[in-house]
Amino acid sequence: MDREKLQFFKELLLKKREDILREVAETIKGLEEGSENLPDAVDQATRETNLILDLRLRDRDQKLLKKIDKALQKIEDGSYGICEACGVEIGEKRLMARPETTLCIDCKRAQERLEKIKGE
Ligand SMILES: [Zn+2]
Repeated sequence: MDREKLQFFKELLLKKREDILREVAETIKGLEEGSENLPDAVDQATRETNLILDLRLRDRDQKLLKKIDKALQKIEDGSYGICEACGVEIGEKRLMARPETTLCIDCKRAQERLEKIKGE
């Protein structure tokens, strides 16, 4: 991948990273504000539900943030856009949709099949 394209994907990743961090910050702020005006009994239950939602969101976002960081690292070391499993170049369309991906579409599908089997 040439320098210009790498720069493009780097900016895409940084923007995505920023969006997630902003979203997380807003969610946490919203949860705190939302629980302020509630009566005590409701408050306790709502607080717990919100906390669970909050943790789940953070878990999902943290995974995505880790992937984004890894992709940024790959841009630096020159291995960005190469499938980790089979070594082919990942299609640009796929990278546009999911710039943090480390697998080509074939390997991703194979991985998803495996996960589905394991999950069942
Ligand atoms: Zn592959």
